[in-house]
Amino acid sequence: MSRFMNTKFATLEEYVPGEQPTDIKYIKLNTNESPFPPSPSVLKAVSKNEVKKLNLYSDPVCTLLAKKLAETYAVGTENIFIGNGSDEVLNFAFMAFCQSGAAFADITYGFYEVFAGLYGIRTDIKPLKEDFSICSDDYKGINKAIFIANPNAPTGKIIVLDEIEEILKTNPDNVVVIDEAYIDFGGESAVNLVDKYDNLLVVQTYSKSRSLAGARLGYGIGNAEIIKDLNKIKFSTNPYNINRLTLAAGEAALSDAEYYKSNCETIIFNREYTVQELKRLGFDVLDSKANFVFAKNEKISGEKLYLKLKENGILIRHFSKERIKDYNRITIGTMEQMKKFIKQTELILAGEADNI
Ligand SMILES: *Cc1c(COP(=O)(O)O)cnc(C)c1O
Repeated sequence: MSRFMNTKFATLEEYVPGEQPTDIKYIKLNTNESPFPPSPSVLKAVSKNEVKKLNLYSDPVCTLLAKKLAETYAVGTENIFIGNGSDEVLNFAFMAFCQSGAAFADITYGFYEVFAGLYGIRTDIKPLKEDFSICSDDYKGINKAIFIANPNAPTGKIIVLDEIEEILKTNPDNVVVIDEAYIDFGGESAVNLVDKYDNLLVVQTYSKSRSLAGARLGYGIGNAEIIKDLNKIKFSTNPYNINRLTLAAGEAALSDAEYYKSNCETIIFNREYTVQELKRLGFDVLDSKANFVFAKNEKISGEKLYLKLKENGILIRHFSKERIKDYNRITIGTMEQMKKFIKQTELILAGEADNI
């Protein structure tokens, strides 16, 4: 830290993204990106013509994209907030809604803790149950802002809508954020509850199921008053938060729903294949409804498997946090990638057996 920085940031622990190495070409199963390219309409929309307009600012209210998202989710445009990645939507939600503190799970998306640290928000950490499912009773009537990833990361496990409704009902004076980054891979979305609960904010992203992680686009769906609050923060920080090319890409992607749906089905199919194979190799695999699986094998430590796979050109994600250090999170890619991953893992495990 330089001597110029505000000392309040001295203890801030920043978010550490999954590695994006450039030394060799890895099979990347570590950051939950889509292995598929953006849809044909997106490739066409991000045209030379659009690039030529980059001398002009982008639309600060994202008129067309908001309209298309509203149509897609059967809500009004006043219910839509668009962010530079869903991380920005979450960032603004932490800034705006956490005066009474923020509650979230001990094992969940790591950015929640970072945002809380950034803004000096008091946190109330709710441990997941032994089996890594969320204990919804812990969140009832707690009078704090609540952040729940559904499906959760890095476990992949879901919480059912009935339980989310109980949490919404018993915390009427606080915002409940349901982070649905992985909802298109099998969970049930809370979007339809937005009409019923004025304290609900559903957050989704183009990064995973819509193959646009590099474009940075996410959105929140909620009551019009919540959306106004988020806009107040946005217009006080970065009014042109979505660039022209990303806006064009985001609009076009919504007209290729079939393409993305079919990709999600492929990922789900590949996920089930991967789960079966990992179980055959003796792994414990959590029940995932996301585009990744979370697994451990008592024959090899999580860290060792991660390092050995990396040596062999395959990246997966290992977390050193005590409770989950035996596990690895493996993004689901193409069938070809998953077959290579399984084959290499099998070889590594056999090598381990030789060493005994
Ligand atoms: C990937 C992810 C995000 C962030 O996605 P971006 O839209 O790329 O910022 C948010 N929440 C969870 C749980 C995620 O896994």
